Amino acid sequence: MDKVCAIFGGSRGIGRAVAQLMARKGYRLAIIARNLEGAKAAAGDLGGNHLAFSCDVAKEHDVRNTFEEMEKHLGRVNFLVNAAGINRDSLLVRTKTEDMVSQLHTNLLGSMLTCKAAVRTMIQQQGGSIVNVGSIVGLKGNSGQSVYSASKGGLVGFSRALAKEVARKKIRVNVVAPGFVHTDMTKDLKEEHLKKNIPLGRFGETLEVAHAVVFLLESPYITGHVLVVDGGLQLML
Ligand code: NDP
Repeated sequence: MDKVCAIFGGSRGIGRAVAQLMARKGYRLAIIARNLEGAKAAAGDLGGNHLAFSCDVAKEHDVRNTFEEMEKHLGRVNFLVNAAGINRDSLLVRTKTEDMVSQLHTNLLGSMLTCKAAVRTMIQQQGGSIVNVGSIVGLKGNSGQSVYSASKGGLVGFSRALAKEVARKKIRVNVVAPGFVHTDMTKDLKEEHLKKNIPLGRFGETLEVAHAVVFLLESPYITGHVLVVDGGLQLML
């Protein structure tokens, strides 16, 4: 298979698990993160002919250059996964403006920029599929995560609107909204306490979320959908 999949945030966590599943299916992958060494290590672990790129999704020129480089070395992108994300959890009254800006720029503007670049190339090739990784807190809200929740809620509105905009071009746009997942992002959380509120009684694993991402990437008749993968947490919120 010579289809190309770009995975922003593919060096660690959920994005890395998506890369593992997509590599097994025979896609050619671009693993993208700010830390080039991390992206190279993740791409190397996959075996095969995958490439790593350094890019800060919050910077427009980085995103533009990365798409140019990907096209030069891998060909046009058919699939896009936006799994790059950060959190700076704190009550709003204590949140510094720079932390608001960095979360919005990485989690929301970053996905807008990569989608814009991808859609341009997908229109030329008359088709493509995008999955943006949101969060259950973008749908339900969470105390101490108002800005992060806003970035993820915004991602849902953006993705659904874009899905309408590009459907006639045979481009699909969907969202996966995870609950708590074991990654670097959640390593400092009080898991014993938090898991009491999860009906399935545990945090999720990255591969469990990755399967949902790959399902949506490959589902030809689903667009504008938000797939929650949270062990039932949303039932309790
Ligand atoms: P990790 O912290 O494990 O990985 C984050 C990835 O994003 C890394 O590859 C990191 O690489 C990359 N990244 C971060 N900032 C940027 C940036 N500005 N530009 C490019 N790449 C960047 O996170 P998770 O796997 O946990 O999270 C993946 C997504 O899932 C995020 O959007 C997160 O908000 C969301 N999510 C996670 C949940 C969880 O419980 N873990 C729950 C709900 C949603 P580098 O640092 O080298 O740039």
